Amino acid sequence: MIDEKLTGVFAEVVRRNPGEPEFHQAVREVLESLGPVLAKNPDLAEYKVIERLCEPERQIIFRVPWQDDSGEIHINRAFRVEFNSALGPYKGGLRFHPSVNLGTIKFLGFEQTFKNALTGMPLGGAKGGADFDPKGRSENEIMRFCQSLMTELYRHLGEYTDVPAGDIGVGTREIGYLFGQYKRITNRYESGVLTGKGVEWSGALVRTEATGYGTVYFVREMLAARGETLDGKVCVVSGAGNVAVHAVEKLVELGAKVVACSDSTGFVVDEKGIDIELLKTVKLHERGRLCDYAERRPDAVYRDRGSVWEVPCDVALPCATQNELTGRDAATLLRNGCIAVAEGANMPTTPEAARMFQEAGIAFGPGKAANAGGVATSALEMQQNASRDSWSFEYTEARLAEIMARIHETCFMTAEEYGAPGNYVVGANIASFLKVSRAMVALGLV
Ligand code: GLU
Repeated sequence: MIDEKLTGVFAEVVRRNPGEPEFHQAVREVLESLGPVLAKNPDLAEYKVIERLCEPERQIIFRVPWQDDSGEIHINRAFRVEFNSALGPYKGGLRFHPSVNLGTIKFLGFEQTFKNALTGMPLGGAKGGADFDPKGRSENEIMRFCQSLMTELYRHLGEYTDVPAGDIGVGTREIGYLFGQYKRITNRYESGVLTGKGVEWSGALVRTEATGYGTVYFVREMLAARGETLDGKVCVVSGAGNVAVHAVEKLVELGAKVVACSDSTGFVVDEKGIDIELLKTVKLHERGRLCDYAERRPDAVYRDRGSVWEVPCDVALPCATQNELTGRDAATLLRNGCIAVAEGANMPTTPEAARMFQEAGIAFGPGKAANAGGVATSALEMQQNASRDSWSFEYTEARLAEIMARIHETCFMTAEEYGAPGNYVVGANIASFLKVSRAMVALGLV
């Protein structure tokens, strides 16, 4: 429930942003936690901090024309929503997916602002992307699209201004083409303008693995707070992209057993435990489908009907996309005895499902805390770029684990302080809100 002092703010957000249900959902989820904060800090209402936070500082929408391999011309629409720069330069990924629209990017940029604050790094919040579908596109088509997009976007970027990275549909390959075009147009080898770069050309070790690994570290902390460990836990992970695959890898490394994962075509159940090397080969290197995995793994079963959440588990990690885990899925998971859920993707749990997990009292890690390891490691990449240094895998991973433990601690303590012990949604929303809003007040009315 939204506190009555904030219902007007929310109504105004809905009125001013029509047809953007995901953005409304993300805002509502934060506002629902903020009642007790306003009671303790009445000055924040006077400064209209919440109203300011709900309005992006700048929104850029532009045309991306490009030619496919047969010479046909295509027109896509791209976005960069620079949400908030109170804590540092705008920072957040780019998403290439046919479903992308302004509302999607606004919800992601809003979430990113709070997530980035939780990392403790000097990062503002932004998100961008395009309604471009990379599926089935050739290497050259992807390159031409990235070059065309950057030909407009470059003027809005800079290591002290706005620093994009990857998200769904954008990985090291795309960041390479984007960086190459930025470098060509500006005549500057400005490493710190993008993160998620290849390690051979000023990228950082662990950045690729960081979101998935970080989510698992967050689960480890949530379980430890309840006197549990990951050892022997049965896990289900949705998705089979960069986040999901590396979450599977770290779960296995920490002694858990991952019995199922999914992609946009279906899911596999592998009771003996997912073969991580085969999964990486099929999904990350060959860019194939999970049925190709099942074909090469005789004991695995591929299903193109039903939901991956029907597979019984102790720990569930939704790592695919927004609103993929519904109230019905939550009921199934709870019935099957699931004790922990952490969001590797951004807002993968519907509001109904999130409420059910919180009411059941299981450990529920919201994305802005649980998946913050990705952007935190982007900040580590920026540090390495600024000092023209590169750190070892072990050192960087230790930093990531430390950061995730600190985020967990912050959320845990804040939830306790505000009378909601064990509720990481409340803890994450309040802790990050306080951090951003104090900076906004300090910087004046800008
Ligand atoms: N897209 C990622 C996220 O959702 C990473 C953003 C970044 O590294 O800037 O946090």
